[in-house]
Amino acid sequence: MRVASLTDVGKMEVREREQPKPEPDEVVLRVGACGVCATDLHMYHGSYAVDFPIVLGHESAGTVTEIGDEVSGLEPGDRVAMNPAVPCNNCSYCKRGETNLCDSATAIGGAGDRIIDGSFAEYVRVPAGNVEQIGDLPFRHAALAEPLGCCIHAADRSGAGQADSVALIGAGPIGLLMLQTLRNRGASPIAVSELDPERRELAAEMGADIVVDPNDGDPVETIREEIGEVDVGIEVVGLVPTIQQAYDVTAKGGNTLIVGVPKQGETMEINPFDIYYNDLDIRGTFALTQETFERAVSLLRQGRIDVDTIVTEEIGLEDIPRAFERMENNEGLKKVVVPGDGE
Ligand SMILES: [Zn+2]
Ligand SMILES: [Zn+2]
Repeated sequence: MRVASLTDVGKMEVREREQPKPEPDEVVLRVGACGVCATDLHMYHGSYAVDFPIVLGHESAGTVTEIGDEVSGLEPGDRVAMNPAVPCNNCSYCKRGETNLCDSATAIGGAGDRIIDGSFAEYVRVPAGNVEQIGDLPFRHAALAEPLGCCIHAADRSGAGQADSVALIGAGPIGLLMLQTLRNRGASPIAVSELDPERRELAAEMGADIVVDPNDGDPVETIREEIGEVDVGIEVVGLVPTIQQAYDVTAKGGNTLIVGVPKQGETMEINPFDIYYNDLDIRGTFALTQETFERAVSLLRQGRIDVDTIVTEEIGLEDIPRAFERMENNEGLKKVVVPGDGE
C-alpha cells in the first residue's frame, strides 16, 4: 500500500509499505478520506515534536476490510469513521470519562504521548472500539467527525448555552465548525472576527449574528459595541495576539477558551489581579472524548452540520505538502486526502 511518510521536519515522502494486519481487538480500514489538520502542519514544521518516520493523518473514515479474531459487531464492508484517540481505559481520567486526558493514550496519526501510524495511507489499523458506523454518509463528510468531536468538546468546555453571548476569533475550518456547534447550543448573539472576507461571508451564512473585519479598527471594541458584554471569548487561530483578543473581549464573570493550537513554548502576559477581580476563567480544550466523537457522528448522520461547504478540496497523498502551503496562506478551507480510489 502507499503511505505519506513524514521522514524529517518539512520532509514528506510517498512510500510503498506492507499493508497492516489487525490485532485480535482491531480492524483494518481502507481509508476513504482523511482530513488535513493544523496539528499535522505543526508536526510537519517541527513546532510540535514527533519521532520520525511517522505517518500522520488522524481525521479519517473508510471501509472495514479485515477484522481481528475477537471483534464482534463489525464486518468487512462496514463504512465507519475513526476516533484516533485510543484511551487506556484504566487511568483515573479514563474512569471519569475524560478520555482526552488519558495518562497513557495512544494517538493514531495525531497528537498524543504515543503516536502510531495514521491515515495518510491507503490502509490503517485501529481498535474496533474506536470506530463508529456512518451508514451512507460520504467519507469526505465523515472524515470531519474527529474535528467536530473536538468542537463539541470545546463547546462543552466553553460553557456557552442558551442566549450566552460569544465572540469567536477566527473562522477557518475549525472556527466554522465551532460556530455551528455554538448555534446548536443556542448561544446568542455570536460575533465572529476574521481577516478573510470569504470566510466572514461563510460565517454570516452559517449563523454568525455579526462578522467583524479585524483590519477595520480594534475588533475587541467593535464586538463590544455590536453585541455588548461577551460571556465567552473563543480563540480558534492559535496565536498569542488573537488569544489576547479573546481574553480582552471576555466580560466580567466570563470564560476565555483556547481552541487554536498555539506553538509549544509560546508564552503570554496575564494580569492575575484582573482574573481575580473579574471572576474570569481561562480555559483550554484538548482533543475529544469518546462521547463527543459519538455525538459528532450522530450530528453528521442527521445532517445537522454543514460540512460540505467546509471541505473545499480533495487531494492525493503526494499533494499534502502543497496543502500545508495553502493552509499557511489561508487558501481554501478543509483539505481532505483521498489516499486510494476513494471507495
Ligand atoms: Zn485534527
Ligand atoms: Zn487512560
